[in-house]
Amino acid sequence: MSTSQETLSFDESVVAGYENYLNPGLASVMKFVGLDSVEMEAYGCTVVDSRGNKFLDCLGGYGTMSVGYSHPHVVAAVQDQVAKQAFSCRILFNEHTAKLAQKLAEITPGDLQFSFFCNSGTEAAEGAIKIARKATGRTKLISTNGSFHGKSMGGLSVSGREKYKTPFGPLVPDCLQIPYNDIESLSFIDEQTAAFIVEPVQGENGIIEATDEFLQAARARCDETGALLIFDEIQTGLGRTGKMWGAERAGVTPDLLLLAKALSGACIPIGAIVGTPKTWEIFAENPLIHSSTFGGNPLACRAALAAIEVIENENLVEKSAVQGEKLLNALLAAKNEFPDLVKEVRGRGLMLGVEFAHDDIAGLVIAGMAARGVLAAYTLNNATVIRFEPPLVISDAEIELAGTAFRDALQQAQELLEDIDMDEE
Ligand code: PLP
Repeated sequence: MSTSQETLSFDESVVAGYENYLNPGLASVMKFVGLDSVEMEAYGCTVVDSRGNKFLDCLGGYGTMSVGYSHPHVVAAVQDQVAKQAFSCRILFNEHTAKLAQKLAEITPGDLQFSFFCNSGTEAAEGAIKIARKATGRTKLISTNGSFHGKSMGGLSVSGREKYKTPFGPLVPDCLQIPYNDIESLSFIDEQTAAFIVEPVQGENGIIEATDEFLQAARARCDETGALLIFDEIQTGLGRTGKMWGAERAGVTPDLLLLAKALSGACIPIGAIVGTPKTWEIFAENPLIHSSTFGGNPLACRAALAAIEVIENENLVEKSAVQGEKLLNALLAAKNEFPDLVKEVRGRGLMLGVEFAHDDIAGLVIAGMAARGVLAAYTLNNATVIRFEPPLVISDAEIELAGTAFRDALQQAQELLEDIDMDEE
């Protein structure tokens, strides 16, 4: 199909590109919430559009931009590496891949030691499922209702929202979801179970935290039955929740830990599975039992190493806790002003969620905030919740801007709802 774009403005022609060649439905949803401009560049917490508008990004690519967009340290590392060698020839050793694996062994808890690198979160979930099945010789996979582990067949099969699963059945067999935070249901993990996979905070389900007791009981039940415990830290990892790891507070370590998003340094996609020596025995039998052409490429590994350096050198884990508290307080102050609209404000660090009385309010607030220069969005599995996951480098002034935009968008939503009520009377 071809469309004449001669009479369209730059923005219109890009939107038409989405409508004609990418995803018309997505284009209309974005336009509906008032997002019809084109991003041109981004730095720190700011995205600049083609009209010169600056947006404070409180979504941050669903929690990906932890070090901020275009961080100079990450950009310099990537520029240096891209000029030397972006991809591996795959049959020689690579310094940066080895260094990143060693660094992850140092910063992850317990005896997590070995890494497998891939290119996205769902690939990390996919690989972990395979490792768990092969390492245990079992097939059953337990996960939790409302969970999100990605949209490839394996990731989807252990995810907990039917809307995204049923159109694609039959999915990977022997997968079962149990209620999140329900310790009794952990008894479904048995001697036939290969793994229990769980997010320390369910991001896409509306920012719901696992209790420490649930994670501890999951560890104990996996130890009892010989099932592997997999923590999906793709969204929570590397400081997002105010701790380096989302499950840190519970004091339990998994057999496999999944990473992606922030590991990219907001620059080059990368995912990782970090596992214990025991789980890695499957590679001793056959080193190529699981592999990826682009996985562990030097460019992505340099970006990831630079990102971890930024997280350490700029104390971003601590900053996430401190700035998260300030943002939480700003959101809570607005909630107190509009108690009929906002049901709850929750979360830890800079992984915060606001639950509204119904999803129309969420839509109005997202649009209202966008009009005031602040980007936020729904969580995938719960449209009554919008999430705030800005870069961890967010400043006090930016937090104030986010809080004010949220408050003013709530006021506008309230006035609009009152007008609709009056019209109906
Ligand atoms: N797991 C969790 C907890 C996630 O939040 C996501 C993405 O939002 C994924 C897995 C899938 O990651 P990706 O979109 O990179 O495939």
